Amino acid sequence: MSTTITIKNLTKRFGDVVAVNNVSLTIEAGTFLTLLGPSGCGKTTLLRCIAGLEDPNEGEIYIGDKLVYSSIKGISLQPGARDLGLVFQNYALWPHMTVYKNITFALEMQKLTKAQMDERVHEALKEVQMDGYENRYPREMSGGQQQRIALARMLAYRPKVFLMDEPLSNLDARLRMDMRTELKRLHHISGATTIYVTHDQVEALTMSTNIAVMKLGVVQQLDTPDRVYHFPANLFVADFIGNPKVNLLDGTVSGQNQVKVGDFALDVETFNARGKMVVAVRPEDIAVLTEPELNAVEFTAYSVLPAGADSTIVAQRGDVEVTVKVMGISKIKMDQKIWLKFDPTSLNLYDKESGNLVT
Ligand code: ATP
Repeated sequence: MSTTITIKNLTKRFGDVVAVNNVSLTIEAGTFLTLLGPSGCGKTTLLRCIAGLEDPNEGEIYIGDKLVYSSIKGISLQPGARDLGLVFQNYALWPHMTVYKNITFALEMQKLTKAQMDERVHEALKEVQMDGYENRYPREMSGGQQQRIALARMLAYRPKVFLMDEPLSNLDARLRMDMRTELKRLHHISGATTIYVTHDQVEALTMSTNIAVMKLGVVQQLDTPDRVYHFPANLFVADFIGNPKVNLLDGTVSGQNQVKVGDFALDVETFNARGKMVVAVRPEDIAVLTEPELNAVEFTAYSVLPAGADSTIVAQRGDVEVTVKVMGISKIKMDQKIWLKFDPTSLNLYDKESGNLVT
């Protein structure tokens, strides 16, 4: 039981600021869509428009077949009439109500028996590892615990759509990891359409079936995590996703299948573009060799940064600096000569002027 959400030409302005700029999105039933982007790009505003907490200026929103907002028809349903479940960053629990009451308060309209309610509360608390907290008041719990109760409240409600705005941002790193696991299970089990706001690219990549990367109120790319990571539609998306960051190297097309970067040339797969390009290559897509080899380019290890499971090597050749990520603790020494091998199939080329992917 889940629902398709359709957004057509949605615009929301605050004075001169266009927070959401003519956004059209179809979110298929059962999708876990993450709205991802830097602070101020309009993700929260878009989510609030879908929720009915913000009145857009133009456009249409359908939740399933139900037209919940239309500027032309003058329709704007109240949040309560949209059949959604909300967890916002401000996880406002009622301070004067126990956990049990906080969770069941929203269920009262569903006309459940006491036993059914108890069952729902129990299951939801177990899901967020808060078993036994039924009688606590919000003031008797930490911020992170309160947030988990807010999440449990949403689980117990069993909506067709989940809307979540940075629900894990107040949790410590360990708990955040656990909650990612739980939220992903929750989506897997419930199959509910989920729209999730975060500025954390790892969260987006790990949780989502689809990601919409936003900048200045505009969706830059709507794609699977795999495509967003491996084939970013433009330089903004390429630069925003990935840690360590993607290498962006200025280059010029020097032949049919080659692009010149600094004083060396890289093989690329056939493409038709000409002129100034930016070559994007992920740090883990470069091999580090300690001996010369055909098509490997000599660099110097400027800095070597081991981090347990992997190591980052910052390599230099003239003005060109490249970051490489290798598995395990690297044996490379600082100032050592190394040879980098770039895999032509993992290079993406962007038009220097427009910033758009050309391969
Ligand atoms: P963050 O990750 O910081 O929450 P965001 O991507 O969710 O950012 P929004 O909160 O949607 O971004 O804000 C988008 C733009 O709209 C910003 O420029 C913001 O300053 C502006 N804005 C948001 N809400 C209001 C408001 N109530 N009044 C005026 N401007 C607003």
